[in-house]
Amino acid sequence: MRKKPEPSAVKAVLISIGTELTQGLVRDKHLSFIGQEMAAFGIEIIKALQIPDNKDLILGELTLACEQAGLVILSGGLGPTEDDLTREMVSQVTGKTLVYHQKVFDNIKIRFSGFNIPKSNEKQASCPEGFVFLNNSHGTAPGFYGSLNGVMIFALPGPPRELQPMFLNEVLPILKGEFQERKVCELVFNSYMISESLLQDVFTKTKAFEVTLATRLDDDRIIGTLRGPTIEGLETSFLELQRQFGFMRIQAGNYFIGDRLVDCLSKKALSLSLAESCTGGLISQWITSISGSSRIFWGSVVTYANRAKEDLLGVDALVVEQKGAVSRETAVAMVRGALKLSNSEVAISVTGIAGPDGGTEEKPVGTVWIALSVNGRELSHCFRFNGDRHRVRYKTAVTAMLLCQAMVEERDVQDLNQFS
Ligand code: ATP
Ligand code: MG
Repeated sequence: MRKKPEPSAVKAVLISIGTELTQGLVRDKHLSFIGQEMAAFGIEIIKALQIPDNKDLILGELTLACEQAGLVILSGGLGPTEDDLTREMVSQVTGKTLVYHQKVFDNIKIRFSGFNIPKSNEKQASCPEGFVFLNNSHGTAPGFYGSLNGVMIFALPGPPRELQPMFLNEVLPILKGEFQERKVCELVFNSYMISESLLQDVFTKTKAFEVTLATRLDDDRIIGTLRGPTIEGLETSFLELQRQFGFMRIQAGNYFIGDRLVDCLSKKALSLSLAESCTGGLISQWITSISGSSRIFWGSVVTYANRAKEDLLGVDALVVEQKGAVSRETAVAMVRGALKLSNSEVAISVTGIAGPDGGTEEKPVGTVWIALSVNGRELSHCFRFNGDRHRVRYKTAVTAMLLCQAMVEERDVQDLNQFS
């Protein structure tokens, strides 16, 4: 039996076809999905491009890709309409005529369950001679696969809900049949308050041999996936990132930040109260989005105006007047006020200038005071967050929750300034 080649022996090109992509009407979702799956499998994508539904462009790029790569993946253009050209273009480039398969058409007909099937759908039942169909479990357009002079060509449907299962259920098994499967280990982590580019930079400088990092943005965090041949290599990379950025900003696993906080408060049976100014209830909204948070959450006092801080939280009007609403003294008075009202063991207060107006030379937009009290231990710190109003409020909420988690877990709260 012939020995299968390593996946690294082949290079891949991904061509996403669709005028809606090049007009910016639809954001390309295939590269992030296929790119990560291919990286995990060990095949390098050397080029990924988007082109409109245009015959000459498809012909040109497909011909070039077949010269540059051993594996070409096309997406889109398999539908029944006139602008769906992929089938014809693959036929032209490979010199294989399109062959109609009645059985495939019968299957497409089943999906129309009793409705008259339009004549135009017939073309979906043909593919270049010698190619095989790939089953579409979520739509009418089957994909197809074949090879020309040793270059593997896959044509997949455009909609992500059709392409993704087809890739996992049809394409990967074919690749597994062709190439040696590598053992790939994964380690997923969350990073907070670090830009994607800085994370990638530091990772590249410190990474262990053969470890790769894929990143994905979520609302409150970046989800990082380390992949490599051994779990030891991944752990080395992970610990190095944690050493560089600190345990608050790099945390193992993949959780919404509120889950972590609610979890650690529940474990210690501590109740939380909030006094929010510039976040206007955002932290409260995040906490209450978690089912079961009622066990640990007293509630939030949203005190936006100075009067509210004074009347509801008992902040001394003189303190606000002399030190300002955005000051250590006000933040601490707010947190003490929340504790007094709620009788809880843990409280957080935030007061800041989210912008775009309201900044001064001394207190520019982005200045935020966060105060915490955890079992009698107090902490207050001033941050300078950059970004627009939305980002400042967001970063305030994330930072407040990370600090609270660190204090509840009785860790050293380090490098606070690097959070801004
Ligand atoms: P259909 O039978 O639905 O026409 P198709 O294979 O012909 O399938 P296209 O017509 O190219 O696919 O695309 C159908 C829809 O799929 C697009 O309107 C778009 O919403 C979505 N789509 C296509 N390509 C992408 C992509 N790269 N990323 C995200 N969505 C895409
Ligand atoms: Mg289409």
